[in-house]
Amino acid sequence: MRVDVLTLFPEAFTGPLDVSIIKRARESGLIDLFFHDIREHASDRHRTVDDQPFGGGHGMVMKVDVLDAALQATQSAAEQPGYVIYLSPQGELLNDALVRELAVLPRLVLVAGRYEGVDERFAEHCVDREISVGDYVLTGGELPAMVLIEAVARQLPGALGDASSPLEESFVDGLLEYPQYTRPAEYRGWSVPEVLLSGNHAEIEKWKQLQRLSRTRQRRPDLLEEGG
Ligand code: SAM
Repeated sequence: MRVDVLTLFPEAFTGPLDVSIIKRARESGLIDLFFHDIREHASDRHRTVDDQPFGGGHGMVMKVDVLDAALQATQSAAEQPGYVIYLSPQGELLNDALVRELAVLPRLVLVAGRYEGVDERFAEHCVDREISVGDYVLTGGELPAMVLIEAVARQLPGALGDASSPLEESFVDGLLEYPQYTRPAEYRGWSVPEVLLSGNHAEIEKWKQLQRLSRTRQRRPDLLEEGG
């Protein structure tokens, strides 16, 4: 998969994307990431990327002409045009199903906003989908873009060492994962559920499934309602 990111801060994309699973996925060519500075597509000598909103209001708005030029240049950087996603608090909420849907696409173009966001004409005419990482407002779309990249990269076949683990994670089958424990079996009087030490695999599987259900019912009843 190829992912292009349009941002005013390409330098923000170091760190989280250079470690662990995502680092290995990049090194093995499972995912190629490219970061493009939107400002390079500003046409005036001040390299202006934002302007005041028509009709008044606070803050600045990212200019449609600059964004469109940046997007067109990015799209033409590879043969296959990418599916364009604008990270926005007004978009549809990112969840496991959406991540899996995106993970099968060959190319994504992510647009990270700043200021008060983008001129609506860009969202309307140039963007395929608006996606939010939660019902709160961040200063920019860079962290949401990184969240999306990491979530998608984990779903690429071969990205996780243990091929079975993505099937056991929370949200698969609409349930949270069961609680996990490791050694020591006893610590400060806090013990591990007896069944996990029993070696009885059928009982352990039953326990895990019950835990998934009760945990989901307790913490995220909305997931059970969604699943019908
Ligand atoms: N004025 C906008 C509003 O009220 O809907 C918020 C703009 S926000 C300060 C600036 C940029 O941060 C947005 O263009 C978007 O790219 C990004 N952003 C902020 N919160 C986000 C969220 N929850 N999910 C995805 N992107 C977000």
